[in-house]
Order: sequence, then C-alpha cells, then structure tokens
Amino acid sequence: MIRRHFLGRLAQGALLAASGALAACKPQSPATQSGAAGPAPARRGEPVKWKMVTTWPKNFPGLGTGANYLAELITQLSGGRIEVKVYGAKELVPAFEVFDAVSRGTAQLGHGSAYYWKGKSEAAQFFSAVPFGLTADEMNAWLYHGGGMQLWEEVYAPFGLIPMASGNTGVQMAGWFNREINTLADLQGLKMRIPGLGGEVLARAGGVPVSLPGGELFTSLQSGAIDATEWVGPYNDLAFGLYKAAKYYYYPGWHEPGTTLECMVNKQAFEALPEDLRAIVKNASRVANQDLLAEYTARNNQALKTLVTEHQVELRPLPDQVLRHLKALSDEVVAEVAAKDEQSRRVYEAFRDFREQVSAWSDISERAYLNARAAG
Ligand code: CA
Repeated sequence: MIRRHFLGRLAQGALLAASGALAACKPQSPATQSGAAGPAPARRGEPVKWKMVTTWPKNFPGLGTGANYLAELITQLSGGRIEVKVYGAKELVPAFEVFDAVSRGTAQLGHGSAYYWKGKSEAAQFFSAVPFGLTADEMNAWLYHGGGMQLWEEVYAPFGLIPMASGNTGVQMAGWFNREINTLADLQGLKMRIPGLGGEVLARAGGVPVSLPGGELFTSLQSGAIDATEWVGPYNDLAFGLYKAAKYYYYPGWHEPGTTLECMVNKQAFEALPEDLRAIVKNASRVANQDLLAEYTARNNQALKTLVTEHQVELRPLPDQVLRHLKALSDEVVAEVAAKDEQSRRVYEAFRDFREQVSAWSDISERAYLNARAAG
C-alpha cells in the first residue's frame, strides 16, 4: 500500500523529506497494518494522538518547557502526523507515577529523570546522575557512543518502555541550606531533599535524605520540614523562589554533575508507528537533549546574578574536606548498589570503566583548558 498522504508533506526540510520519501516507497509495517498496539491511526491520514505525562510542574522553566519543546518537535518533524499533548505533574498522574502510567499505556510518553525509578530498578539511577560521575558531555558520550543507551534499554525493557535521553541540566548546585556547612559534623542529622544515589551518600554521611517532587520543595523548606534541599541550578531554583526559604546557596552539585532527563516511550505504542515516525521520535529527543543543555548553560549565570545581586543570596563553596569525604562515601555507596543484582552490577561496571577512560581525556582537555582560562 502506497502511503500517498505523506507526499504532500515532503517540503518540510531535509530530514523529513528523506524519511518521508523512504516511507512513501515502502509498504506499511505489519504492526501498523494490524493496529494491534497503542493508539495507531484509526484511518490513513489521521494523526496519532499521544499523551506525555511529566514529573515537572506544567511549563516549569527548562524542565517543563523542555518537555513541551520535545512534544512540539515531534509534531513539527512528523508534519502533524503525531500530536502530543503534555500534562504537568498531577494533571493526569502524580509526578512519581509517570513511570507506571507510561508502562501501562495510560500515556505514551513520560518526561522525567531515571533516578526517580530506583524502586523499579536500582540500575536506573546510573542513567540519571551518579555522585562524582559523568558531566553532561561525558554522559552523552557514554549513552550515544559508549554503550550506555543499550544498557538503559535493557533496564527499561521488562516494563514495556523505551528510554531516550531528552535533556541535561549540566552541573547542578549543591543546594539551599538553612545551616552552614563548615565541617562533616554539620551533615549530621541534616534533613535534606536529595534524590537518588546522592541521597544514599548523604545518609552514609549521617544526614536524612528525603524524596519530594519539585512542586513540594518550597513549602517543605519554608515550614522547616526539611533543613535543606537541592533542586537543579540557578535558572530553576530562582523560578521556585527557593531563596525566600533558605539562607545559603552551596556549590558544586557533587551529587548531580550532569543529570540526564529522559523521555520514556510506551514500547507497544512506539512499535505501532511506521519506521519513519519512529526515527522522528528518537531524533527529536536527541535534538531536545542537546537543546536543553544549551539553555541551562545560557540561563544559569543570568539567574545566579539575579539571586546574588537582587535577592542577597549567600553563595558558598562546600569545603574541600566535606567534598573529599562525600567522594569517598560515594564510591562506597555506588559500588554497593552494584552488588544488589546482576543487572546493576553490569551497568555499574560499564559506567565505572567509561568514567575512568573518559576522565583521562577530560583532564587534559576541558579541565586543563578551563584552568588555563581562569588563570589568565
Ligand atoms: Ca537535582
């Protein structure tokens, strides 16, 4: 069957032209013909209508708008053949139910970050952020050219999900504190919102990690239910008004050196798409992945300036001694996670080996250059 309705849309750029022309010459895939899975087009020419649920507040700068951007890209690049409606946290499902919602097909796409799903698989955390792990650039290198993506796909496969990287925050901030952190003793009993492996490291250091979705941070900090919180970085933290609820803003984000955001796709819905639309969904996510990092890099320092000059935020580095201790604990905690099950062990070993080899290059490229630039 020739898919003539594609032909009118071939003027929409080289990518679409190439993929659309390919599709026009091919018969429909068996999955599309059977219509057995997901919301495949009911009739030729009707758009596929997908829902995207997110762990972020609707339209939240960077995170929520990054999800919106991906949704728009998918619609634009597909020439309107896929329409995506985006839902903020709690609009369709609560933030921490995104994984299950996409897994069972309530929504076809879910935007979040993989460390929220450690209850599903400990190994998921490696695809989000690892304390003292990879930077954004190194993470993309591991995922796209170092075997990381295949491992991530293996981890999500039992849940009927296909993961895609769809944003990176770059190095985050250590967070907002209502007490000074001068020595290791100051971490004792510190009740802090910090997700994933970073939270486990804080627990090892004597603190009390708490997991809360972003929308609950401000009131928890202001009410004193928590002593500290990390969120992302100046661009996002300014938007939440966290400076109104805490005095000190510490750096660097040792626990999240380059956090990957994800877009998970319901596998059945994805496989019901023709080949060209599958390529568009995957490549739209790749574009969104790079674009969000650029946005963070462009906006963070502008927001930091506002925080310091207009809101009199006290910006402080974590003491070297505290960072060294956290690094030693991080290595222990991450290795222990790896010992929990066979899959986590394999992911950990791949991650560890990649970090080792890429660090050697980063040391004499990015780090040496940044040192040289700062020294000048
Ligand atoms: Ca964070």
